[in-house]
Amino acid sequence: METVAKHFQLPIKTETNVKTIAALPQGKGFILETSKGELRSQFVIWAAGEFQYPNLNPFPGAELCIHNSQIRSWTELEGNEFVVIGGYESGVDAASVLAALGKKVKLIDRNSSWLNIDSDPSVSLSPYSIKRLEVAYSMGLIELIGDKYIEAVKAVKKGYVVESEYEEWFSSTQPILCTGFNSSLEQIAPLFDWSNGYAALTQEDESTLTPGLFVVGPSVRHGNLIFCFIYKFRQRFAVVGNAIAQRLGIDTTTLEAYRRQGLFLDDLSCCDNDCVC
Ligand SMILES: Cc1cc2nc3c(=O)[nH]c(=O)nc-3n(C[C@H](O)[C@H](O)[C@H](O)COP(=O)(O)OP(=O)(O)OC[C@H]3O[C@@H](n4cnc5c(N)ncnc54)[C@H](O)[C@@H]3O)c2cc1C
Repeated sequence: METVAKHFQLPIKTETNVKTIAALPQGKGFILETSKGELRSQFVIWAAGEFQYPNLNPFPGAELCIHNSQIRSWTELEGNEFVVIGGYESGVDAASVLAALGKKVKLIDRNSSWLNIDSDPSVSLSPYSIKRLEVAYSMGLIELIGDKYIEAVKAVKKGYVVESEYEEWFSSTQPILCTGFNSSLEQIAPLFDWSNGYAALTQEDESTLTPGLFVVGPSVRHGNLIFCFIYKFRQRFAVVGNAIAQRLGIDTTTLEAYRRQGLFLDDLSCCDNDCVC
């Protein structure tokens, strides 16, 4: 990245937080208010991901827990027994690491994600995570508790109680929240149409409400096609690059190299249930 930035003299600004984005009328570009002053741009590509935006309040008492994104190192957690709430990628990651450290883990999920064998990792665990879970489970340190919807966490003497409608589990250590992240698009929500429950994008991954504003990353979604994994959403970078280049009258032939490598996915008809990639 440093080499590319130097060669093309890219005006990269580090340590700069984008606070707001305002679209100028008649598609005349954008004004970005940042922690280091104002920026203007004809186009904006939003690539702010999700990791900085954890969902910290999924139920009452969640503030008593620790979100997995707040754990700098699993080795620093004190205690030998843990309750992990949420059993998708983050929860399985947490449970697998803790088991590898010799800790006992109760892994609770509202579904039983570990039993879902859908081939699409956007709705089921990735093969890598399943494999890690199998290894950790075979060590006898993980208890899988599926189909339990956690409604609250309460502080009690010497620990915490994690409650579903009819059951509860005691944890002597702070329960670990693996209930996911919010989309960073919520930071600039008014610039998108959310009527389907997610940010509507054109076939070029541009906001349907705000021309010139593109999205790349895990929030890209077209109907049931969810691009939340890196190997999926990186195939759309060339689509956005192509759209902007076309409008600027820039030659796009170099993008053919991306197409040859399967990294220029502009035809979504091949991405049905059994994705060819
Ligand atoms: C436990 C876990 C396991 C995962 N496993 C996999 C996996 O096996 N395979 C896979 O493909 N994906 C996996 N993912 C998802 C993957 O990590 C993310 O989809 C990917 O990191 C998203 O990349 P990104 O560049 O879009 O966003 P991010 O990596 O989140 O980067 C966003 C960047 O934007 C910056 N930023 C955010 N807000 C602002 C702002 N307001 N102003 C300025 N800068 C800002 C941040 O500092 C950051 O540098 C996993 C995620 C988790 C949590």
